[in-house]
Amino acid sequence: MKLPSLAVLAVFVIAPVFAQTQSVPIELSGHQELLIDKCGYDEQLAAQQLVQLGDHWGYGYDSLLVDLERWRQSPYVTIDSIGASVQNRALWQLNITSDTPEMEPRRTVFVHARTHPNEVQAWWVTDELISLLLSEEPFARFMRESCTFYIIPMYNPDGVELEFARQNANGIDIESNWDKNPVQPEVAVLRNRFGELMASDAPIETALNMHSAFACKRYFVYHDAVGTSPEFTVLEQDFIGFIRSYFEDGIEPWSYFVSWTSGTPTRYPESWFWLNHGEDVMALTYEDMNCTAAGQYDQTAFAVLHGVADYLGLVVTAVLDRPTAQIQGFSLRQNYPNPVRLSRTTSMSSVIQFRLEREQPIRLVLYDVLGRQVKVLDQGRRPAAEHRVYFDASNLATGTYFYQLQTAGGVVARQLTVTR
Ligand SMILES: [Zn+2]
Repeated sequence: MKLPSLAVLAVFVIAPVFAQTQSVPIELSGHQELLIDKCGYDEQLAAQQLVQLGDHWGYGYDSLLVDLERWRQSPYVTIDSIGASVQNRALWQLNITSDTPEMEPRRTVFVHARTHPNEVQAWWVTDELISLLLSEEPFARFMRESCTFYIIPMYNPDGVELEFARQNANGIDIESNWDKNPVQPEVAVLRNRFGELMASDAPIETALNMHSAFACKRYFVYHDAVGTSPEFTVLEQDFIGFIRSYFEDGIEPWSYFVSWTSGTPTRYPESWFWLNHGEDVMALTYEDMNCTAAGQYDQTAFAVLHGVADYLGLVVTAVLDRPTAQIQGFSLRQNYPNPVRLSRTTSMSSVIQFRLEREQPIRLVLYDVLGRQVKVLDQGRRPAAEHRVYFDASNLATGTYFYQLQTAGGVVARQLTVTR
């Protein structure tokens, strides 16, 4: 049982959703450990969800088969079965990438969803992630060229079809029994797949395990240094922080749900990654909202994808024009300070420097992550010299931006970050 700290349980108790749904209050007694897991699972609440949504919680195996046919039409996806469930349903895997790589080997991101059948919201986020990755957005193209995404949309199809809330066809929760014998077929399949990829020349660097929580909050299940390492918790905080920066009012901070506070558990997929590969893999459970207030799945997927890009250190210059192979006659430096902290901004808070080796017309433009122009920072005919352009960041939203220097000799872009 991956248990939250007492402080986190207190958050659960006062969370307004429990008042709205008139559920049984969660008491801080011993036996509740048996009822409440990291997804905040509570049998009575789950029963209400079942009544509300019914019909395989609104998305069954048949729905998946229809979507698989639709995704198959995309040139960016290949679909394979990586094995079978207890009742011999295929465990489908999407492989999303591009055949025109930005880099080799590409970075590997793994996502699996719907371990717990009644957490359908985790699937809707994953669905939006797939839609975004298959889109013609410049950012999606960049991510396809930089990464390979392996996505298991429905890891527990038997549970979905049997309308079990949590278990597979053997009545086992395949989220929290990775260390039990006999090994469940679904666990064996996914563990084997993880192992294959970890032994490849493009091992998994980010693994997201998609759930949704009855606390009616969006959060990541953060692993304490007691169960991991101080170094890993820094990476976790970065990772969660990057994703949050794109949906700050929607996703809770890393400190909202702290687990592994009394050691390393062995029962979870994240346990497998930690015990076998340590800090090499950012393997975390994401919890969406399992309640009627859930939504904004597209915003969440957008935040996840951009946060992963930031975590992997992918500089998204391809969102703009690709820098030319040989850039001559000018250079563009990293802005200072970077990140730009709004809490410390003065009106001329950041400076961008560029150098021209001959007089020429230039344009220096700030873009957001989708490549939309935010403002023109400088333009006109400029002499051969080192130039400094001061700009005011105080009215910018937090997030990632790009500034691009456009000259007769080509264009070059750099990334800048605005934080609080
Ligand atoms: Zn769950």
